[in-house]
Amino acid sequence: MTAKARNAAAMKAGNMLEIIRMLLKEPLTRAEIARRTGLTRAAVTIITERLTGDGVLRETSVSSGAGKTPVRQLVLCPRRFLFLGVDIRRDGYTAGLTDLGGATLDRRTAALVPGQTFEQLIGSVKSDLIRLTHPLVTGIGVGVPGPVEPETGLVLNPPNFGLIWNQDLRLALQGDLPAGLWIENNALARTVYEKYAGLGQALSAFMVVIVDRGIGSGLYLNGQLYRGAGFAGELGHLSIDRRGPLCACGSRGCLENYAAVPMLLGRCRARTGAVVATWADLVDRAYQDDSGCLEALRDEADCLAQGLVSVLNLLDLEAVILTGDLTYQPDLLLGEIRSRVQQARMARQAHDVRIEAAKPRSDAGMASAAMVAIDRFFRGQADWPLA
Ligand SMILES: [Zn+2]
Repeated sequence: MTAKARNAAAMKAGNMLEIIRMLLKEPLTRAEIARRTGLTRAAVTIITERLTGDGVLRETSVSSGAGKTPVRQLVLCPRRFLFLGVDIRRDGYTAGLTDLGGATLDRRTAALVPGQTFEQLIGSVKSDLIRLTHPLVTGIGVGVPGPVEPETGLVLNPPNFGLIWNQDLRLALQGDLPAGLWIENNALARTVYEKYAGLGQALSAFMVVIVDRGIGSGLYLNGQLYRGAGFAGELGHLSIDRRGPLCACGSRGCLENYAAVPMLLGRCRARTGAVVATWADLVDRAYQDDSGCLEALRDEADCLAQGLVSVLNLLDLEAVILTGDLTYQPDLLLGEIRSRVQQARMARQAHDVRIEAAKPRSDAGMASAAMVAIDRFFRGQADWPLA
């Protein structure tokens, strides 16, 4: 193939993916597709005929008002492209099969067995993926606690998860699996998920913050994931007190040492003597006007707001999306965070910033991993599954 022919083929594939992505959001007429893409009507017809022939699109007639000719719209069939997602956690994993929109079609969850070796874990994940797979599988996404090198699939040293340290996860998993496989830090996977299927869909600059046993975050800037030189987004290790306790990372007063849920619960117990086992427990009691738990919830808001103001002053984001344990009955906490951020943020008079809790989903980790592969598909990096 000549360079010119390769360019033309790449452009055609790019246009095809752009049309699929548009139709994933809503059915459109050919004229509307031409208007939005800037392609000629003839080009749109050639591409949409190919996609209709492959069963990716179908045509429906929609009434456009009494006495008017019905409008013919193209509708996407999201199940013509399937994806596998695996969310590997410190306590186990969930593997699942999703469609192009991230809807779960099937899934399997397994706990990590004490003493399990890396090879046993990989063997178990692989056999579940083989059970879940389907001829239309187009890509496989794997989410793991970071840090990871997404381009090589090498996991570095995620805290408290020595089982997967320095493992080439892509090499270990790919084997006989039927499609391309990508490894991603689970916070960045969730960021991709929020962009495609969550609160970030209309945004071009936002941060996802996961607060549970630790604090993870992912940045989406200028319409794409932001990695910096490789490992950007370590919000948990942004210092909120230079005289604070020494962190395992080498710095002092890192946000994670205050605002990760076990740290906060520990402080709450020490201060009040109350036995508060979980974040949900603390929130329930705060809603019942338990003064110690209310104080602890405000303390959490203080810590998070201090970290968020620094990030917002640096990057001036449109939104911060909280996920993890903090999405339990989040209104009280969100109100406390928003008022603190609003008092201190430099751009507060210029524009608002949204601080929201992500919509809870029980298999969000798996769906986020699948979204990593869906994102690669839309970027033209997956093989086309329909011969
Ligand atoms: Zn640190």
